[in-house]
Amino acid sequence: VSYEAGRYYVSVTAEIEETSRYNNDLEASYHPQTDGIGVDLGVKSLAIVSDGRIFENINTSSRARRLEKRLRREQRRLSRKYEMRKKKGGSTATASANIEKKKLSVQRLHQRLANLRRNHENQIIHALVEQKPRFITVEDLNVTGMMKNRHLSKAVSEQRFYSFREKLRRKAESIGIEFRIADRFYPSSKTCHACGHVHSSLKLKARIYVCPVCDYTEDRDLNAALNLRDTKNYRIA
Ligand SMILES: [Zn+2]
Repeated sequence: VSYEAGRYYVSVTAEIEETSRYNNDLEASYHPQTDGIGVDLGVKSLAIVSDGRIFENINTSSRARRLEKRLRREQRRLSRKYEMRKKKGGSTATASANIEKKKLSVQRLHQRLANLRRNHENQIIHALVEQKPRFITVEDLNVTGMMKNRHLSKAVSEQRFYSFREKLRRKAESIGIEFRIADRFYPSSKTCHACGHVHSSLKLKARIYVCPVCDYTEDRDLNAALNLRDTKNYRIA
């Protein structure tokens, strides 16, 4: 039994017989129905798929923004209440009923945001696997680099990429879909999907990829997703 944000949760474990879904020959028994897909993870849109599908970043939705705004306001109110209590000489270790109430509302908002993000991620993952692709390729993420990142907001968004990718990997694994991670140094964004030229001076803010060699023009993230789909530089996770 656990307690979080004013609610009790009960978890139950049960032993179930192993089914064919979890056998080692899972991949052999998996029958793909569509070609493999490449998935590019981004900030503006969370995921861009080589088949053209775009999944928005929930954090930029008005629902998430409203919740975040309310959360910031509630957090400010809570810290003010703490300050007042300190000034009056009260202990901050034992909070008043009023403070407890505020704390609970902050926790609830945190939880609602987390639920919103989790639901959104689960929906995307479901959409990616339900068409039974032959494989899924994603880019490699520099985990050690992201931990060293001093910009908190960037570190947080990278952390979310990582957890999203892990969730997708586990889901693919449970179904038997081959999960590919492109080589860390494979330039999926800078490579022209039409002629293979590596456009090394491509600016980070350029949203459209225009190949200086063959004039191929494509949305930057879609070009990257197509390259991820077709690359031979990958490892199977
Ligand atoms: Zn080209």
